[in-house]
Amino acid sequence: MTDLPASEKQPLESSPSGDEGLHFIAEIVEDDLRTGKNGARLQTRFPPEPNGYLHIGHAKAIWINFTIAARAPFGACNLRLDDTNPATEEDRFVRSIQEDIRWLGYDVGKRVFFASDYFERLYECAQTLVRKGLAYVDSQSPEEIRDKRGNFYTPGQDSPYRTRSVEENLDLLARMRNGEFEEGQAVLRAKIDMTHPNMNMRDPLIYRIRKAHHHRTGDAWCIYPMYDFAHPLSDAFEGVTHSLCSLEFENHRPLYDWFIEAVGGFDPVPRQIEFARLNVTHTVLSKRKLQELVQLEKVSGWDDPRMPTLAGMRRRGYLPQSILAFIERTGVAKRDNMVEIELLEHQIREDLNREANRTMAVIDPVKVTITNMAEGEKHTFSIPVHPEYPERGTREVTLERELYIEREDYLESPPKKWFRLAPGQEVRLRGACFIRAVEARRDERGKLVELLCTWDPESKGGGTPDGRKVRGTLHWISKTDAISCEVHLYDRLFSEPEPESEDRSFLECLNPDSLQIRAEALCDRSLAQSPEGAVFQFERLGYFCVDRTSTPGRPVFNRTIGLRDSWAKIAQS
Ligand code: ATP
Ligand code: MG
Repeated sequence: MTDLPASEKQPLESSPSGDEGLHFIAEIVEDDLRTGKNGARLQTRFPPEPNGYLHIGHAKAIWINFTIAARAPFGACNLRLDDTNPATEEDRFVRSIQEDIRWLGYDVGKRVFFASDYFERLYECAQTLVRKGLAYVDSQSPEEIRDKRGNFYTPGQDSPYRTRSVEENLDLLARMRNGEFEEGQAVLRAKIDMTHPNMNMRDPLIYRIRKAHHHRTGDAWCIYPMYDFAHPLSDAFEGVTHSLCSLEFENHRPLYDWFIEAVGGFDPVPRQIEFARLNVTHTVLSKRKLQELVQLEKVSGWDDPRMPTLAGMRRRGYLPQSILAFIERTGVAKRDNMVEIELLEHQIREDLNREANRTMAVIDPVKVTITNMAEGEKHTFSIPVHPEYPERGTREVTLERELYIEREDYLESPPKKWFRLAPGQEVRLRGACFIRAVEARRDERGKLVELLCTWDPESKGGGTPDGRKVRGTLHWISKTDAISCEVHLYDRLFSEPEPESEDRSFLECLNPDSLQIRAEALCDRSLAQSPEGAVFQFERLGYFCVDRTSTPGRPVFNRTIGLRDSWAKIAQS
């Protein structure tokens, strides 16, 4: 069972360098399975801190952890909420994390764990370290501790409290837990080596005092374990075999191994393996920065459709399979890299092109009156809802005397090769007939208010009566078919390709035109009751999805993405 058939390996065979074979983590795991390491068991975990919403970088970690776990028959991936910092964590983030993982299509079932559930057990591990002479209570001030850590060039200095006896340390630790000290008066530290070349090994903190309310344990604790201590031990408690994390933890690996060995007695012993984070152009992927965008009201919230959060992408109309396909295509690397957002957009378009049925909407409408059509005269036409999937059926559109087209589709003095409407020029109304512009009516300020046109009844149904060429096709909507709606046009949140580059604040790279609201838009009557999240292609305009702020009879649409694909061009060049 350890050697999967080639067909099952297929989705994991992503190698951006073009090398043959599995990505490097899959290779390590396959080796371990083949040699029967850990009894050929596979267990991973995804360990977010519930201090914000998940973003597309987390989706990469989720994808890696779940697909790796699936390489063994009973492999599993735990969701572990790494909630060791009471100051920043909230229940609503716990809920959103679970919702987003489910949306991506992964089922954690009952495998939902909280680091805070291990607080008692972690405390016992700390006592074990003290008893083994591997941890001590330090009473230096936080400043002294920092100053004596040294730096890359100079070794640190031992704390004067480093030689306290086991008994004294056990007593002080208990008193820390009992709340007898104030924040900053005492910490528990690992006794490793203050001259270690790896700064993380210079007697790192294990516990610190925080007199804060925890979202799950309330006021039961006033000491909280540090990430570097809680994380490896939580992995070990859960029987994790492969602890997969992003590269910034590489320097923490010796400490990860140290804590597990120092406490001792674990089987399996989890192994940490690091992979490169996902970075995407025109995007920031740091919870702290995303939180800043929310707090400064640069966006409407964590699920603003411009946010790279999974909640934002869902609201924008991105399909979960597109996100996963994109992640798979970017591969698993050992070195940091930057992926162009056009690749994601290309994937979104490709999937929406298949998924989204076609319809028509006019986002900046101008009225057209067909002067040679009688009041009350109506013609109905059937158009396929999807040109490539006739089995999905047809939609009906009504042609009548009054209809609407896009304001920008008419120009008084057009440039050469303008195939849309202009004085005397003829166009095709998608699926219906030819019309010719005769007269433009403007208000006193010169704004176009109505176009008078004539139609050629011979062109009814879209035929070409005398073989004459009509090159432009416009989307349109008749007065009968139209209902009012609101359209939100989104563009990239950051105009700069690398908003996180060092020389300026990411806030200076915000695109001032990332949202335009069209409150006067019209869409087809059939969309009046569309459910939240439904996706459509508005012909000629792009892909749109129904926003959760829609009200019955007045939908709100988010533009997911336009029709033009700039990645296709990049890939060709
Ligand atoms: P951020 O840096 O955005 O604040 P984080 O790393 O602090 O994120 P965690 O909740 O600690 O957020 O992340 C949970 C897991 O997701 C970690 O194992 C981390 O390695 C992984 N992860 C976070 N960002 C990315 C990314 N951009 N690409 C791949 N994995 C990521
Ligand atoms: Mg982190």
